[in-house]
Amino acid sequence: MFNPSESSSANSLGGRLYRYEVVGLRSNVSTVRRSGSTFFTVSYERMGQFMRQVAQSGGKIINIFPASSENLPASNVISTSDSTASESTAEAAPAPKSKKGADIPVNIYRPNSPFVGKCLSNEELVREGGEGTVRHLTFDLSGGDLRYLEGQSIGIIPEGTDEKGKPHKLRLYSIASTRHGDNLDDKTVSLCVRQLVYKNKETNEEVKGVCSTYLTQLPVGAPVKITGPVGKEMLLPDDPNANIIMMATGTGIAPFRAFIWRMLKEKHEDYQFKGLAWLFFGVAYTPNILYKEELESLQEQFPENLRLTYAISREQQNVDGGKMYIQSRIQENADELWGLVQKENTHVYICGLKGMEGGIDEGMSAAAIKNGVDWSEYQRELKKAGRWHVETY
Ligand SMILES: Cc1cc2nc3c(=O)[nH]c(=O)nc-3n(C[C@H](O)[C@H](O)[C@H](O)COP(=O)(O)OP(=O)(O)OC[C@H]3O[C@@H](n4cnc5c(N)ncnc54)[C@H](O)[C@@H]3O)c2cc1C
Repeated sequence: MFNPSESSSANSLGGRLYRYEVVGLRSNVSTVRRSGSTFFTVSYERMGQFMRQVAQSGGKIINIFPASSENLPASNVISTSDSTASESTAEAAPAPKSKKGADIPVNIYRPNSPFVGKCLSNEELVREGGEGTVRHLTFDLSGGDLRYLEGQSIGIIPEGTDEKGKPHKLRLYSIASTRHGDNLDDKTVSLCVRQLVYKNKETNEEVKGVCSTYLTQLPVGAPVKITGPVGKEMLLPDDPNANIIMMATGTGIAPFRAFIWRMLKEKHEDYQFKGLAWLFFGVAYTPNILYKEELESLQEQFPENLRLTYAISREQQNVDGGKMYIQSRIQENADELWGLVQKENTHVYICGLKGMEGGIDEGMSAAAIKNGVDWSEYQRELKKAGRWHVETY
């Protein structure tokens, strides 16, 4: 039965939290209501189960946003009370101090009335010899009000219906363009989307993800339903002298493309980046290094401001002869990274596959131990200070 109970505050086991706005629930639910809506905070791992429970209770989810993206009072934080719940909840990093809440656009378009954009381009990013399909898509936003900042995400509602004949639910995608868009006219938004393909273990059949297949195959000129933007976790600080350490796997590069383009490619009177941007990028093969040419060209132009460190797992080996993952690169550069995170103007951002944080913590722990510091305590302080930002999926 759907019977959520109030949770206390979030614990810090590391999962991401999403806040759901639900209407039309039958009243076995003792929750806090606002404008007829009920709000729940649910971990990413439990989304599927939660959605089923809402449907069974006659409810309708009208909005989803990362839990850090709305300032509901703590008493509104609800979690599902299923005893099997092993909710791991994260301390969401506050938005960088210089960003005022009012300046951050959120939920301009909601799932019940999405903005209908148009696909302007859809290009393959994986080169010959690489693994899988990843596409760079750009959508036309003209005629609407959608604005966004680097580090935010948008929702996409795929065409068609699910197996129950209901419209598909939205999926979130990190925005890969700056607020000005790839055409610099403030009228587009771009994404970097990997097509999800996996084998069903029981039937051995190939399964293709609904929304990622819809997007990667979207023809130029096709309409596309967009919601959002959402997210305050991954925003860039306004300080042009900040050090920005970015750790990405695969499509986790999306927000960092937006960061690097804003920091170094675009020219702004009011934001002239002078700090160090250091990208650690983990992929399987060299042809999977997304945006490689553009990144390397920027690195050549700004050798003092941009460092690129790749971890190419199927081609490179770490010092122990194992596959080269991001954590090995973190370990190799531990002393320098440790020096950087001591500085108050250094921000660390992690984006990509769920599970990548463990390796990064290992690498950072090694550096911290050398300096007699407990990494998990130190990391907690970084999170509190809004200098440790994570978005994994
Ligand atoms: C904040 C955020 C940002 C994101 N940004 C991006 C981005 O920039 N680019 C990007 O490509 N994606 C991104 N994603 C992921 C994206 O939202 C979708 O989850 C992804 O595209 C898959 O959606 P789908 O509709 O294709 O798959 P679905 O049809 O929804 O299928 C997904 C389901 O398939 C099952 N599944 C998946 N893999 C396996 C497996 N190996 N074995 C068995 N079952 C499996 C799981 O049940 C999973 O829930 C982001 C997610 C979040 C939360």
